[in-house]
Amino acid sequence: MAECSIRCFGVGDGWPCADRHHSSFLYRFGETSVLIDCGEPISSSYKASGLSYDAIDQILLSHLHSDHVGGFFMLMQGFWLEARTKPLTVSLPKDGIKPIQRLLELSTVFPELLDFKLKFEALKVARVMEVGEVKITPFPTTHLEQLRHAFQKRYPHRFEAFSFLLEAGKKRVAHSADIGKPEDLEPLLKKPLDLLVCELAHFQVEDLLAYLAGRPIKQILFMHVGRAQWANMPKTKRLVAKLLPDIPCTFAGDNEVYRF
Ligand SMILES: [Zn+2]
Repeated sequence: MAECSIRCFGVGDGWPCADRHHSSFLYRFGETSVLIDCGEPISSSYKASGLSYDAIDQILLSHLHSDHVGGFFMLMQGFWLEARTKPLTVSLPKDGIKPIQRLLELSTVFPELLDFKLKFEALKVARVMEVGEVKITPFPTTHLEQLRHAFQKRYPHRFEAFSFLLEAGKKRVAHSADIGKPEDLEPLLKKPLDLLVCELAHFQVEDLLAYLAGRPIKQILFMHVGRAQWANMPKTKRLVAKLLPDIPCTFAGDNEVYRF
């Protein structure tokens, strides 16, 4: 397979960050590119990357927290103004489809103005999506479970959050997005991974590292690193090196590209 890479447009942890952008990751498997999440300022970072506006084949929104979807509208306005032509499917939690379509209309990004066909589809657990040469499988995470328990009676949403397994040729890559506990990763770890892109914010770091120790993972890229761990990176790196001595681990930075 030709080049496989991930471009980390934003590696922040969901808190306002002065030194990190919000979640957005562009996976490239040869000729196929998939953007996971659209945290802001993705439209600016995307322009700065110099990539074609037709480069992205599909967009996945893992859940509807603003640090994952807050840049979506400006990205679409950019796709309109920069005259994207390739059809685009956006896959997201079902609850988001109608409100996002409505807000696109209200912001005058009408389908009639676009030079490309824009389609929305609901993510479904374990239903494989085929995008070019890539197979993408969404799995549920418990990231929003506590909020579901506290608020679902008053706000009857689905409270869905997803992680993703991406497979192309012999490559297997897992993207945790936001999880609730390390065990959420289990369906992603059923077979050996070339790369695990994993958040480090919503649980005790030691618990996650213990959970991953000894797993057949060629490399781990940590993103969405919690504020305290980010502020003391030498300590965090020492902890990771101590508890995961056999797996090469890297901490992702904004706009960095990593090959796998
Ligand atoms: Zn979140």
